[in-house]
Amino acid sequence: MKFDILTLFPDMVNGILGESILGRAQKAGLIEINTHQIRDFSENKHRNVDDTPFGGGRGMLMAAPPIAGCLEHLFSTLPEGERRRVIYLSPKGSVLTQAKASSLLAFDRLILLCGHYEGVDERIIEEYVDEEISIGDYVLTGGELPACVLVDTVARMVDGVLAMPECFEEESIASGLLEYPQYTRPVSFHGREVPEVLLSGHHANIAAWRLEEALKVTKERRPELYEAYMAAHPPKVKKSRRKKPKTDEEQGK
Ligand code: SAM
Repeated sequence: MKFDILTLFPDMVNGILGESILGRAQKAGLIEINTHQIRDFSENKHRNVDDTPFGGGRGMLMAAPPIAGCLEHLFSTLPEGERRRVIYLSPKGSVLTQAKASSLLAFDRLILLCGHYEGVDERIIEEYVDEEISIGDYVLTGGELPACVLVDTVARMVDGVLAMPECFEEESIASGLLEYPQYTRPVSFHGREVPEVLLSGHHANIAAWRLEEALKVTKERRPELYEAYMAAHPPKVKKSRRKKPKTDEEQGK
């Protein structure tokens, strides 16, 4: 899967996405991440990319021509027939969820536009953007961190990026529940012991304990997730073993 990130601060993005699991995944050719400097497409001799908004108001806005130039140049280099999506990271977008991230795996290439200052000229969104995505109901200084969040959550679901795919199938949110508590060595830490059951080697009991803990933490912290999970997984009702009523004869009547 390929990611193209249009930004004024490529080093920010490369620094974050070039490390650890995603850095290794890039080296292994499982994913490709390219950054594109929007400023290179400024036609202005000072390489400006922003201007004051029409109608007045605070701050500066990223102007349309350098962004359009950057996008058009990128499009001209891409192979035909790819399934691509242009996404503008924006607090006005729909909020990113695990389900949304999974749905983006259907594309071969995600082209991510990072805004800065007060955002981008609306005509860029009208002409080029397929979708606006927010990473939460708060405002950041730029789209670089949101783009990294989006790439990270999608890329770790690409085949081969995580050693064990069940890693993400079983963890918080993807499973429908928040994750159960986890422990590693030492068995005793500051007087706190690892729960006995996890040391027992009894797989069925461990699985039952984990489910119980996951249900408990989800009910406490995210009641809406808990309700949805319980609606989708109603508890199995045990078949009643009630005896057949005795006949009159059996009762000696
Ligand atoms: N004036 C804009 C507004 O009120 O909607 C906010 C602009 S923000 C300061 C600058 C840039 O940061 C945005 O263009 C966007 O790319 C990015 N950004 C900020 N918060 C974000 C969020 N929660 N999700 C995604 N992108 C965000």
